Amino acid sequence: MVQDIFETPIEFLKGVGPRKAEILQKELNIFNFGGLIHHYPFRYVDRSKFYKAREVNEAMPYIQLRGHITNLQIIGEKRGQRLTALFKDETGMIELVWFKSIPWVKKFIDAKTEYIIFGKPNEFNGRINIVHPEIEPVPLEFSTLNSQLSIFSPVYNTSEKMKAQFLDSRAIGKLQKTLIALLPPNIPESIPENLITDLKLMKGLDALINIHIPTSNDNLKKAEFRLKFEELFFLQLELLKLKVNRKEINKGVVFSKIGDFFNNFYKQKLPFDLTNAQKKVLKEIRADMGSGKQMNRLLQGDVGSGKTLVALMSLLIALDNGFQACLMAPTELLVAQHFATLNKMLDGLGIKIAMLTGSNKTKKRREILEQLINGEIHIVVGTHALIEESVQFKNLGLVVIDEQHRFGVEQRSKLWHKSDIFPHVMVMTATPIPRTLAMTLYGDLDTSVIDELPPGRTPVTTVHRFDSNRLRVFGFMKEQIKEGRQVYVVYPLIDESETLDYKDLMDGFESISRAFPMPEYHVSIVHGRMKADVRDFEMQRFVKGETHIMVATTVIEVGVDIPNASVMVIESAERFGLSQLHQLRGRVGRGAKQSYCILMTSFKLSADAKTRIETMVRTTDGFEIAEIDMQLRGPGDIAGTQQSGITNLRLADITKDTQILNLARKAAQNILEHDPHLTNPSNKCLEDYFKIKRRVGSKWERIS
Ligand code: ADP
Ligand code: MG
Repeated sequence: MVQDIFETPIEFLKGVGPRKAEILQKELNIFNFGGLIHHYPFRYVDRSKFYKAREVNEAMPYIQLRGHITNLQIIGEKRGQRLTALFKDETGMIELVWFKSIPWVKKFIDAKTEYIIFGKPNEFNGRINIVHPEIEPVPLEFSTLNSQLSIFSPVYNTSEKMKAQFLDSRAIGKLQKTLIALLPPNIPESIPENLITDLKLMKGLDALINIHIPTSNDNLKKAEFRLKFEELFFLQLELLKLKVNRKEINKGVVFSKIGDFFNNFYKQKLPFDLTNAQKKVLKEIRADMGSGKQMNRLLQGDVGSGKTLVALMSLLIALDNGFQACLMAPTELLVAQHFATLNKMLDGLGIKIAMLTGSNKTKKRREILEQLINGEIHIVVGTHALIEESVQFKNLGLVVIDEQHRFGVEQRSKLWHKSDIFPHVMVMTATPIPRTLAMTLYGDLDTSVIDELPPGRTPVTTVHRFDSNRLRVFGFMKEQIKEGRQVYVVYPLIDESETLDYKDLMDGFESISRAFPMPEYHVSIVHGRMKADVRDFEMQRFVKGETHIMVATTVIEVGVDIPNASVMVIESAERFGLSQLHQLRGRVGRGAKQSYCILMTSFKLSADAKTRIETMVRTTDGFEIAEIDMQLRGPGDIAGTQQSGITNLRLADITKDTQILNLARKAAQNILEHDPHLTNPSNKCLEDYFKIKRRVGSKWERIS
């Protein structure tokens, strides 16, 4: 809802003033009326529900009581001073305690008045008390409560600093009421009228009123729906508008032909047939890159579905059209692996490939930079180092980003600007991400999905074993090794500086070395604290089949591809996230032989850990796993989402509000299809939205 009144500085609201305004700005980022009205309650108290003093126990969340307050007593000296009082109803008494605002409370309370008090019961010295309860006199019209008044009392987020300035939840509620009374009834809608009619949405003003002062449960639900819709709608509209603009403005280099690089690779090098899904996706990519518009595409596919190959063949199309291409990955290890894969698969085709990471020596780096500018290098594989200003190309035509949700929109766009005409961009996710999250994080991209695994794969068998069964697991590993297979044993090392995790890893390595002695067995170890060359050496021994067991941390998580390895043992599996477990499991099952994933855990598991383990045992479908992962963790916790619009959502939750999200996206799509520039009078409010957003820039979320 965009209106001048919402841009009024917050200090001018009656009851605020400069001091409180400063606190509201600092603590809640509220700068103006708009900021306040969009500071929604985080929950509601059912005001029809009162507890009795006798029922109260310390396990209860916030509760509401009704009775008298007596026996006010100040205890202690100046600094350690506190005020205590007794709350009484006909069933018993509860102690109330204040450490702050003592004079004010003392003045406010009198013994004759009946109060409604609200707070969280605690246990202290074996007795129940409530610290800093909110108190208010029972209102006069209270008897009619159930008929007309709001029975849901809003509860707002506040902080200690705010409470010290008397800005508690109740005070915020009061400010909201003051503000709502000022709002003109004819306040313009922020979304087009026909959308409101078609979707039977609550009017914007009614929604704002009802979110703060719900007049019924039904109206509260409708208000929530309307406001959630609005949030998601504008998020989608922005993303889709970005897409429309880009398609119009960003000319792309036209890759008009398939040439020798691609054809020779296809005829001479490709060791297998492409899956239908790979063919379909390649077709989509080709069409996109030949269209004259810049490609911006998200490539999704489960672990092992052959995304790398699709990327590689797309790179060849760029080369065939006389352009350079680059492949960017989040870790040095993965970059090294891509580099090795490309070199192997493209050997003999006359393609010059370089690797650029942060650890390149200066001389080598300078050489690479030179050859990128003069065009000698066809393909460069690298980490973030590729984004740096100093990296310039002769004619960059395609950027492939192999990521694990690690590069934000900003970073991506830096790559585009490395060429006069924007290069085509393809982003690959390491494991699938849920559709709703993809829509929100990558909503401005077109999407291709590889929904099929290459043939001849036997699904990995996954089991859960407790630590106490380790000897039997060792026995099983021995059987597999006897049959010529190789085994990974992975330890959690979430943070390289975690000394304890590191010790677990080394202890594990020792006990495995004892259980699998030389010369019969050979064991490798790889972790992030090793020097890169030692790590490579160990890795290579395993790749060549010289060692039977690879003890490792999650450095092997992404990308590593060794088809003969058929057993993945994950230690302390309860400590890994779902997508990490799925990614680790994806390291096996790459050959035709039956593969196994063994999840080792201690006996005691949290409910979430149990769900994760059970999910892994039950399914190998990465898309399903991604959904469950998001349900468990929430979208905000999934790495990389900080940079997205998700953080601006106040009410909507993309894990739960899937339907509203779909509705919002469809609505935004529909509008832009008919009116891409929002020039239609009925869409004027939308144009206003973007206008104001441009004007206010980054401060936008404060007034939206
Ligand atoms: P991811 O999608 O996880 O990156 P990769 O690209 O690493 O998967 O591919 C996994 C394995 O499958 C690799 O060994 C690759 O060579 C192989 N592969 C890819 N496409 C096919 C195919 N069409 N038929 C058989 N194997 C394939
Ligand atoms: Mg991969």
